Amino acid sequence: MAPSILVVEDDEAIASGLARVLDAQGYVVARVGRGRAALESAADPGLALVVLDLGLPDIDGIDVCRRLRAARPELRILILTARDEELDVVAGLDAGADDYLVKPFRLSELLARVRAHLRSVTAVEPEEHPPLRAGDVVVDRGARRAWRRDDELALRPKEFDLLALLVAHSGRVVTRERIMGEVWDTDWMGSTKTLDTHVLTLRQKLGPPEPITTLRGVGYRFDAP
Ligand code: CA
Repeated sequence: MAPSILVVEDDEAIASGLARVLDAQGYVVARVGRGRAALESAADPGLALVVLDLGLPDIDGIDVCRRLRAARPELRILILTARDEELDVVAGLDAGADDYLVKPFRLSELLARVRAHLRSVTAVEPEEHPPLRAGDVVVDRGARRAWRRDDELALRPKEFDLLALLVAHSGRVVTRERIMGEVWDTDWMGSTKTLDTHVLTLRQKLGPPEPITTLRGVGYRFDAP
């Protein structure tokens, strides 16, 4: 599901132009011309970003911005303002806007800003890579950090990938072939000394009690302590 964008703009020509270019980029776009309708639409949990014109006919755009921010702390708000109203920019940012564009602006500039904001929304989206937990070990794949009890583990990249794979399949055997394929991106089994070395250092970093069980000739199993 593409991110959802709400365009709040009472100028029909600008609004339809914005909706058209955003739609062409594959975003799901909704469009309203009033502040009140914007506040109602913001209740939609799928909404990720609002392009908000500050000059609206019913409610002051700054006020709409403040209320959107209060209702949806994670929402991205990009305000549009006229060239001679630059004080509005300051007021809008104070009211919780993330970014602004001064009219007239290039559509390519708007698209670049939208893309950047939605990328950062995606980056912190908790559903994208929920932290893995097995016993007292936590692996955060989004941040590439791992902990045992409250101690953060200083892992090299392949050690991290190995731990994440084992923890994701906690209690089940992960074969050497699979590890080589997923962590080292190779199915070359001529020598897996590298794997053995990484398991050894990973065990040292995890410390006791030993959570990784070796199934000789087969693979490894992470047993949540
Ligand atoms: Ca307007």
